[in-house]
Parts: sequence; structure tokens; C-alpha cells
Amino acid sequence: KSLKKMGEESKHVAHCLVLAYPAQGHINPMIEFSKRLIQRGLKITLVSTVSFWNTTTPHTLKSLSSSDPQNIQVESISDGYDNGGLAAAESLEIYKETFWKVGPRTLSNLIQKLASNNNPVDCVICDGFLYWALDVAKDEFGILGALFFTQPCAVNNIYFHVYKKWLELPLSESEYLIPGLPKLAASELPSFLYDYGSYPGYFDIIRNQFCNIHKADWVLANTFYELESQVVNWLKEIWPLKTIGPCVPSMYLDKRLLHDNDYGVSIYDQNIDSCIKWLNDKTKGSVVYVSFGSMAGLTEKQTEELAFGLKESDCYFLWVVRDCDHAKIPKWFLETNDSEKGLVVTWCPQLLVLTHDAVGCFLTHCGWNSTLEAICFGVPTIAMPLWTDQITNAKHIKDVWKMGVRVDADEKGLVRRESIGNCIKEILESEKGNEIKNNALKWRNLAKDSVDEGGSSDQNITEFVAKLAQLCS
Ligand code: UDP
Repeated sequence: KSLKKMGEESKHVAHCLVLAYPAQGHINPMIEFSKRLIQRGLKITLVSTVSFWNTTTPHTLKSLSSSDPQNIQVESISDGYDNGGLAAAESLEIYKETFWKVGPRTLSNLIQKLASNNNPVDCVICDGFLYWALDVAKDEFGILGALFFTQPCAVNNIYFHVYKKWLELPLSESEYLIPGLPKLAASELPSFLYDYGSYPGYFDIIRNQFCNIHKADWVLANTFYELESQVVNWLKEIWPLKTIGPCVPSMYLDKRLLHDNDYGVSIYDQNIDSCIKWLNDKTKGSVVYVSFGSMAGLTEKQTEELAFGLKESDCYFLWVVRDCDHAKIPKWFLETNDSEKGLVVTWCPQLLVLTHDAVGCFLTHCGWNSTLEAICFGVPTIAMPLWTDQITNAKHIKDVWKMGVRVDADEKGLVRRESIGNCIKEILESEKGNEIKNNALKWRNLAKDSVDEGGSSDQNITEFVAKLAQLCS
């Protein structure tokens, strides 16, 4: 063999183990990031829990581990509840306690197994929620480690301030000034900061995301520099931060050939054809797409107000109501609804919907993935946040990025039908709606630039891969 050939054969391909918290909104951006690493020649093993892989559709797993160039190896660790995951635990607190014990042990076993199969791991990229993976990577195996934050840097910075006790709880001020962020009213901070007592398990996970940050060789964030430049500049001074998002597939950004396999996992079956066929009949920009993501649900009363709001606004709407919430839809609505006017589905291919010309606005809970998707496709937004970071994301959508409006809640926290109707009118029909649409398009272009060749996120990924190659060679 020639020397060159021998050299090529011995070239080490860096192998990253990407560990995602078992939730759709966490795993999808990590899959997309993994694909971008594979495109740059890295080897990827994607890991989540046994119970999570069992809940995804078989179709998803097949598409992930197929033999195309985007091939991702899929492996599992245990959360201690292999049959059922969180749903099988008595409470989130107990689930967390078990997962935090069993997870590190099974991760360690997995890394050993991969090494003995001649597939050693060079770097663990772990979800911020699963920060203990850095103990395993760094202390036990002495390999590289990165934290991956699936939430915006604004929210990471707020939680970091809580972790450092720079922001004291319980909240006592009416307004907060946090570096890199606009002035935030207490009510615009993530909901866990005022109702943490109701969700001690989640709050604990969120606050502790930073306890291993000193061990991380990189901190990766699913956002892009142009969207959050001030807070990114501030955090870069204290963290080895790289913005690598939006982790939304580039083929969607280009509206090239779209296929349902292209994005992430789906925990629900979705009827793609019926949604798209329904949208195909509607005129450009006429449809309100309504979805509250994969976790949170509306109360029965709120579902009814929304039903009235949509009906009375007389617009076309595509409304996602998951199976578990279906019983909350009022009977009168189901009996009188004309499905040509308003289609209710249990789950939909959100990216295909948001890229469809018929969609004129997105009434959303402002989960970070949904927010980034709206940004990527330039879809004006009606923000109706429910909890956690959604509240702060809604503030940014309306007041910072100016790409949407926000519904008003009454003193009991109920969003009335009038407010929903007014927001729909404002986006679809008013002069201000045009301004908002233009801003949404501006952000769409900036998002696309950031992931295109030479853009801020593209460069950051290239730098990450180069440094990794250098450290592993
Ligand atoms: N999603 C989807 N179909 C639906 C509703 C949501 O594919 O009918 C996807 C959506 O595209 C997004 C994810 O589910 O990627 C929801 O994530 P997000 O962070 O917005 O909210 P969460 O589910 O974490 O509350």
C-alpha cells in the first residue's frame, strides 16, 4: 500500500455521543445538530432512554438508523423506568432521583461497551438537563465533554443568575435587569421563578443545569448569534459558548424537497396527507395554525375560550389538540364545526405546515422549538405562553424581535375569546400586521444566513469540529 493510503486509513474520525433528555423538544434539535456534525465527517451515537425510544414511532427509529449518509447510531441508557419512563413514576421528583442514579451508571456501561466494540467515544455532548453526564465523561473516562442547551440564551442566563444566587428567590422586585436582556417585569420571567414550589423536580433540574459548567469544554446553544447577540456576548465572557442553531433542518429553510423523515422524532402518529391536502385548498396567508406543543395542555375553560375565539374570528384554522386533551373540546364546537373552515387534528407535521404558503400566522405556546421554527420560516406569531421559558420567549417575540403579538389574560389568567380574536385580526388584517410580517421575514433571512456556509452558526460548528479533531488526533 502507498504511504498516503496507509495514512488515510489511520486517520481518526472523532466519535461523539450525543445524550438527549427524553422529550421531543430536547431530542429534535440534538438530532439536527448531530446531522450537521455527520455532514462534517464526525461519527455520532445518539442516546436517550429505553423508555423514550419505545414511545417514538417505529417509523422514526427506522429512519434514524437507516443506512443513508445521515446515518446515526441509536443507543439507550436507562432512567430506571424502562417500561413507561416518567409516566410510570409516582412523581417527577421520584423519577428524577431514580434517573439521576441509574442514568450515570448505564451511561458509563454504554461508553465501556462502545470502547470494547472498537468504537471508543471521544466526546460526550449532553443535554443541559443531564449535566451529570459530564462527571462520567470527564472524571471517569477523561474524555471531552460539551453541554448542549436546548433553550434560548436569554433564558439560560436567567436560570444561571438563579443558580448563582445573583437573582434571589422568592422574587421581590417588580422589574429585573439581567445583563444582555431587556428590562423584564417579574411576570415576564420564566414561570418556574414564581411557582417553583409547585414544580420542585423541574425547578431542581433547571437550576442545576449549570453545576458542571466548569467541566464543559464547550457550551453549545440552540440559537443564533444575530437573534440574541447581547446576551451571547455577555455569556461568552464566562462560558466557552458557541451558538449553533437554529437546529431546524436546512432543507426546510430552503423549502427544498420536503419529506416527513427529515426532522427528528415523532412521539405521535401524524396524518400528513390530510393536513397538507386541507392547506392546499386555502388561499395564501389565510390560515391560523394553532398548537401548544408536546407537553402542556390548556384547561377545559381555556380550550372553550379558544374554540369561541377561533370560531368568532371567522378565519380558517388548523388546530392541534392532542389525544389526551381531546375531551376538553366543547361538545357544541364538535357538533357545529365545519372541517373545511377549521380542521382539528391530534398531531401534525409542524414544519410542513409552517412552510405552507396558506399559513398566515401561528398561535403558539412559544416553546423554544416552535419559536425557532416560526422564526426560520418567517411566520408571524400570536404568543400565548403557558409556563416555563415560554413566558420570556413571548416577551422577546413581541417586544424585542417584533415578529408577533401577545394575547392578554384576565386577572384569573384566562385568555378571553375577544383577545384571541383581536390578535388574529391584528396579524391577518391590520397595517401593524404587515409590519410584523416584514419583521418575521427579516428574522427568517438572518436565521438562514446564520446556518448557510460562512454564517455565524455554521462557522461555530466548523470551529467546534476542527478543535475536536485537533484534540482527538
Ligand atoms: N410539533 C409537531 N407537531 C405538532 C406539534 C408540535 O411536530 O402537531 C413539534 C414542533 O415542530 C416542535 C416540537 O413538536 O419541534 C415542540 O417543541 P416546543 O419546544 O415548541 O414545545 P414543547 O413540546 O417542548 O412544549
